[in-house]
Amino acid sequence: MDATPVHPSWLGEPSSTRDVLYRLLIDGPMSRSALAERLGLSAASLSRVTKPLLASGELREVPGRHVGPTGRPTQPLEVDADRHHFIGVKVTGTHAYAALVNLRADVLDAADAPLRSKDPDHVIAVVARLANSLQERGTAASGLGVCLGGQVREDGSVGYAPFLEWQNVPFGQQLAAATSMPVAVANDLNALTLIEHWHGAGRGVENLIILTIGAGVGYGLVINNQLINDVNAGLGQVGHTPLDPTGPACGIGHRGCANVVLSTRNIEAQAAVSLGKSVPYDRLMKLAAEDPVARQVVDQAAFSLGRLMTIASAFTMPQKIVLTGEGVELAVAAPEALKAGRSHDREQHTPAVPLEIVEVSHTHWARGAAIAAMQLPAPSLAVDQMLEAVNR
Ligand SMILES: [Zn+2]
Repeated sequence: MDATPVHPSWLGEPSSTRDVLYRLLIDGPMSRSALAERLGLSAASLSRVTKPLLASGELREVPGRHVGPTGRPTQPLEVDADRHHFIGVKVTGTHAYAALVNLRADVLDAADAPLRSKDPDHVIAVVARLANSLQERGTAASGLGVCLGGQVREDGSVGYAPFLEWQNVPFGQQLAAATSMPVAVANDLNALTLIEHWHGAGRGVENLIILTIGAGVGYGLVINNQLINDVNAGLGQVGHTPLDPTGPACGIGHRGCANVVLSTRNIEAQAAVSLGKSVPYDRLMKLAAEDPVARQVVDQAAFSLGRLMTIASAFTMPQKIVLTGEGVELAVAAPEALKAGRSHDREQHTPAVPLEIVEVSHTHWARGAAIAAMQLPAPSLAVDQMLEAVNR
């Protein structure tokens, strides 16, 4: 693509300008007085911030007549969500899922492609092809966000990605060179946490935990509306939380850690031993309703999941837990055992943290990757490209 649009001027800027735009993006149109109150700004300060944004078209007044809570006429402000577009891509070990989104992360178009190899050059070529194909219909994107399971460094390089079998791959840099786009690379749990916090089950929740179960255990954390990010976030430390001292050992020798007792593969293996035949995970979850042996296996795992929720809550004091991932059916199939596990380690006077169970598609993760491109501190390569585009 030539004519790559420049990032919005506010991207990655930790400022009241960004706060205004984000608040309006997440909470929707708002009157000036409500916005000022929400951000703790005086009317004059807010006006200083919004004036240039209204002039440039980033912000606009919602057309029509509106009446505020006091009965006086008001003119709510909104972000022009279609002024900038972004592409998000979720890369697994075998496939890449891409979405073209607007600033509200609404999906305008989507595309996906299989990965025929894990070679970084191939993965970069596939992602670049998807990004180009999504822009072929005339909507140019301001940035490209990619999320994957693993350790992602601030410069966009990947330290370690187990599903792709990568170590020390300068992925973000090479992808930016291949696409001529500003690129943000994010750990996939961070991307998922972003989309859930901005536009999903965690919307409006200041302190939030995201837990995923499936092949392993994933964890994302929002405190004071900020995603807690760390270079080691993608290494999955929470997955090694000890839950069952009698359980089998994980790959690095922890007996009964969360990665083992909650993994779909281990739950299937436990069921195979108890039932004397192998039953796929989804079938096993249904079988628990009628077979006491299957019930016991499923209940045991759900009890451990409940314990993990309570341990995580004890340290981070969230207002809500969002549970997702391909193994999420466990919580639906064994609600009583989950509840018992949640109570087991909890101080009796503490109420249980509200839980929401959500099923998400690959496109959902891709939307989070797009938000990473909008929101994460712009890596230096993106800044360089922005400057280059400005000076061109
Ligand atoms: Zn472990």
